[in-house]
Amino acid sequence: MSSSSSSSSCYCSSSAPSPLKMAWTDENVGRRFFGCSKYLKKGDFVFHCKHFRWVDKSFPTLRDRVWSMYAEIDALKEKNEEFEITVSNLMKKSKKDEELILQWKTKAQDLEKEV
Ligand SMILES: [Zn+2]
Repeated sequence: MSSSSSSSSCYCSSSAPSPLKMAWTDENVGRRFFGCSKYLKKGDFVFHCKHFRWVDKSFPTLRDRVWSMYAEIDALKEKNEEFEITVSNLMKKSKKDEELILQWKTKAQDLEKEV
């Protein structure tokens, strides 16, 4: 089985965590790794930061890749559900706020009439 972790930081000036990437070379198709975003710039052959770490300890078998993809999909689905709940709650709150504003506007108009 392959091991995985969600982030990896390097010690170069870039404070952002190294993104999880996937190798597409013939030797390592689908093998995941963390590489600093400054590792190589596009079209560049000079290493700006050599932070690099394989996530998959070896070339993953197709079964391992499929399993880890299923796990990633499940995690994304869970995150998506959380987002949907958050959005729904925010919409409810926004509607309540709008109703409150409307109530205050009506009150203000009533008061103006009295003056
Ligand atoms: Zn770095």
